[in-house]
Amino acid sequence: MKTLIANALVVPMTKEGYSLRADIGIDGKHIAFVGRADASFQPDRVIDASSFLAMPALVNAHTHLSMGLMRNYKDDMPTLQEWLAEIFPVEDLLDERDILFASRLGIMESIQSGVTTVADMYFNQHSTAKAILEGGIRASIGITLFGDLNQSKERVKKSEALLKGFRNQPDRRIQFDYAPHAIYTCPEETYRYAHALAKDHGVILHTHLSETRKEVEDSISTFGDTPLSYLSRLGCLGDIKTLLAHCVHLTDEELIILKDLDATIVHNPSSNTKLSSGLAPISKFLEHGVQVALGTDGASSNNNLNMFEEMHIASLIGRVYTPTNTKLTPYQVLSMATTNGAKALGLEARIGRLEAGMEADILLLDLKKSHLTPLNDPFSALVYAAQASDVDTLFCQGRMLMQKRKILTLREEDVLKDANSCWAEVLARKRGEQNG
Ligand SMILES: [Zn+2]
Repeated sequence: MKTLIANALVVPMTKEGYSLRADIGIDGKHIAFVGRADASFQPDRVIDASSFLAMPALVNAHTHLSMGLMRNYKDDMPTLQEWLAEIFPVEDLLDERDILFASRLGIMESIQSGVTTVADMYFNQHSTAKAILEGGIRASIGITLFGDLNQSKERVKKSEALLKGFRNQPDRRIQFDYAPHAIYTCPEETYRYAHALAKDHGVILHTHLSETRKEVEDSISTFGDTPLSYLSRLGCLGDIKTLLAHCVHLTDEELIILKDLDATIVHNPSSNTKLSSGLAPISKFLEHGVQVALGTDGASSNNNLNMFEEMHIASLIGRVYTPTNTKLTPYQVLSMATTNGAKALGLEARIGRLEAGMEADILLLDLKKSHLTPLNDPFSALVYAAQASDVDTLFCQGRMLMQKRKILTLREEDVLKDANSCWAEVLARKRGEQNG
């Protein structure tokens, strides 16, 4: 299948400030060219993109797709810890069917906001993997470790067995990583085990880190060290690629440690503000040469998976919270949501830029909108003005997942109905537990 995206305003994310009016040829799963189509390219399908902006599809580098079930539930708890105390007992009630329905919901929302790649961390990962294949997007799925070493080993063993059929997919849309939840739920032995697994398999270690002041204070009193220093001292951050979600409260010493690591901080500005966790000094991280990607976190602490909104919030916060007197630029924020996210997941040779030879993960944004007129600067427009609902068409590996806002891989009505009925059942189970 050959597709010609004709005459788009292309933001290829190959260099700062660069955009061009061009055609994009897609041949199978890959981008054949970005430029002017010549007669040798015979497309099966032509999309008139003269009123569209084409850019790399977005990477949500830290999320929990299935937490959409708990959207707008137990909101506005004073702290992360008090919120988790409400959420953990509900999560214990979720079974593999719930996770399948919830994952479909999260994938649908992701597609609608132009996302084709997510780094997910949750339970019953085989259900999420099934939904990822159905929805047509890609994922780095975290095999979650939670609790002491025995509990974590048991979880990993169970997950690995259930995920067997999802390994080595021919189109390589799913990869796995190891995801110890956080230092306040996983002891030292669990982190050492997760690190050994990640190293042995040559995959990423994905964890929550330094999210709140309380986490930092407890870490100092329990381990005699701040969270990142503690994990570094254990040797759990070296020799592997790591994905460190939040990192709101890093010390200057920890920033120096990060320099020698293959680590990406995932900025989650909505979740960090909604849970009153704090503001991460992103411009300072970038000045220190630390790589930063962007994520929504789960929809119950956000409360959506809208990466355009996340870029907007990151941009706005990055203009006022400037501890080193530098402000985040639109291009930096767009990079976090595209090229940096791809690099964080080891996918930089495949996605994140629009160039010949890259896999065709492309979003087409409809520019015929009052809030995008006149356009002037496309980079500014994308982070300050664009809405997720402006995403008209989305490709992943050359396959069209959404066209004219209609999702082609999932039945939208069914996904919504299933999520509602599933959540009603979960609440009934919860009431049953309380009464019994
Ligand atoms: Zn999270």
